Amino acid sequence: MNRDWIEKDFYKTLDVSDEASTEEIKKSYRKLAQKHHPDANAGDAKAEEKFKEISEAYATLSNAEQRKEYDQIRRVAGPGGFQGFGGQPGGFGGQQVRVEDIQDLLGGFGGAGDLFGFGSGSRGGPSRGSDLQTDLTISFDDAAHGTTTTIKVRGATTCSRCGGVGAEPGTSVTTCPTCGGRGVVAQNQGFFSFSQPCSQCRGAGQLIETPCSTCRGSGSENKTREVKLKIPAGVSDGSTLRLRGKGGPGANGGPSGDLLVRLRVTTSRTFGRKGNDLTLTIPITYTEATLGTKIDVPTLNGGVKVKVPAGTPSGKTFRVRGKGIAPERGRSGDLLVTVQVAVPNKVSRAEKKLLEELAALESDEIRDHLR
Ligand SMILES: [Zn+2]
Ligand SMILES: [Zn+2]
Repeated sequence: MNRDWIEKDFYKTLDVSDEASTEEIKKSYRKLAQKHHPDANAGDAKAEEKFKEISEAYATLSNAEQRKEYDQIRRVAGPGGFQGFGGQPGGFGGQQVRVEDIQDLLGGFGGAGDLFGFGSGSRGGPSRGSDLQTDLTISFDDAAHGTTTTIKVRGATTCSRCGGVGAEPGTSVTTCPTCGGRGVVAQNQGFFSFSQPCSQCRGAGQLIETPCSTCRGSGSENKTREVKLKIPAGVSDGSTLRLRGKGGPGANGGPSGDLLVRLRVTTSRTFGRKGNDLTLTIPITYTEATLGTKIDVPTLNGGVKVKVPAGTPSGKTFRVRGKGIAPERGRSGDLLVTVQVAVPNKVSRAEKKLLEELAALESDEIRDHLR
């Protein structure tokens, strides 16, 4: 007998009436299972829990013998369970009911000690799935602007054939008779009760007659799947994106793990990067530096003009505000333009002549000033 049964309304879970035929139950189950299937609700722990409940309800109601047993308990306890001791529904009329009375009514749970933890409904250890990690290389531009991409992930995932139940579709899943579906058994030590994982079902709470042909009953399969990934603008090399619920499947109704995507960002031919600031070096000539000029500077979105005032020393950096990386959250970076006076290693005859004239004009005073 399953103690959980008096707390659960399987008919309500499957959205059918108490009188529903096997066919009606099956039909409703299929509809609900599809809707709450983990594959269709990746990362949604609520849907996963619901899917588990639906599976459990169907496992009981689809088995004629178990359904009969369950109906019997419901007749005693009332639909929807006891709602706590001394509760209104269920024919106890709000009276104070002793544990022994319930035990008698239900035909015994197999020892009073077994009633420790009554109503907790705890199952044999739902556990969270493992985190999976993968690397992804993206371009400098994609990192700056953000992008949407699809990555292939190989690893454990909820079995697509059985939806993680572990049973071949259409075959029955029975509640483990040893632990009554709880996955744990109580060991009595005098006045105390200790819970241990059930040895018959190994904590799953269910016994599978025909294991799923794809996953052989494990409920998970290794396969390559595609995961859609939104990369926010402004990510940097070495950063990791965490995709909740896209990792390995959980066990016994536990949530899936996360998928960790470590990003590698390629370098840019044009820009360097310091946090959200972009850096850039532009060569200018000696005359441009001396007389001043306006230079064309590329940015992530088109070019801008930067004024280089007369008398600009080589190596001076100009800050163009807001033209750096614009992250999805937070302040945009700047573009830092450093001008470098380029010295030609070859000059024309005319240039040489002018430079020589210039050299003759340069006073010792200027030379001293420069040094
Ligand atoms: Zn399977
Ligand atoms: Zn068991």
